[in-house]
Amino acid sequence: MKKVLVLEDEANIRSFVVINLKRAGYETIEAGTGEEALEQLQRNPDIKVALLDIMLPGIDGFEVCRRIRASNSQIGIIMLTARTQEMDKVTGLMTGADDYVTKPFSPAELTARVDALYRRTGGAVTENADEISQPPFLLNTRNRTLEKNGQRIKLTQVEYAIVKLFMDNPGKALSREDILDTVWGRDYFGELKIVDVNIRRLRIKLEDDPTNPVYINTVWGYGYKWGV
Ligand code: CA
Repeated sequence: MKKVLVLEDEANIRSFVVINLKRAGYETIEAGTGEEALEQLQRNPDIKVALLDIMLPGIDGFEVCRRIRASNSQIGIIMLTARTQEMDKVTGLMTGADDYVTKPFSPAELTARVDALYRRTGGAVTENADEISQPPFLLNTRNRTLEKNGQRIKLTQVEYAIVKLFMDNPGKALSREDILDTVWGRDYFGELKIVDVNIRRLRIKLEDDPTNPVYINTVWGYGYKWGV
């Protein structure tokens, strides 16, 4: 069963989300507080995607995201943000979320986002070559892990997919649209900005000096280029 965690304190929004996810074939686990969400995740380690509201009684959605990511880089995380909280999107992504949906959202938009993330995190990935070695990086496509100088770098599934795309195309300028299409899928409704935020987070993880990147180079007005 495809399990999704829905953390939302407002009961009417939560049931709207739950009804639509069930209709799309998901099993939903509900939580009304961040603490409850973390408990549910421990009880249900097979949850593949979590939807996290931000404004909550008790710990907020960012803190929940941070705590999940401290021990789990595999789960897909979507933040539920309010339209007025533009900065929340960036903050959420910087704390380790993969995506965000802005309230109010349509059922189609919500399920498209969950589907896209579920496809990436749900396994069903078969690769032929096991390793791509581009010193100082070594990408293991079987375990979906990345090492730099022999040290494991923890990546989210989205970050992994971006690095894989880069390592498959060394030295090639990739447009932000290319990256969005490949990583998020062509049916993705989101904005290009999500690419930039993920790149910013990846630079912090991969670069010796994130302010002077040498691996992920900006191609001004176009996108990014992997240089090793
Ligand atoms: Ca709320």
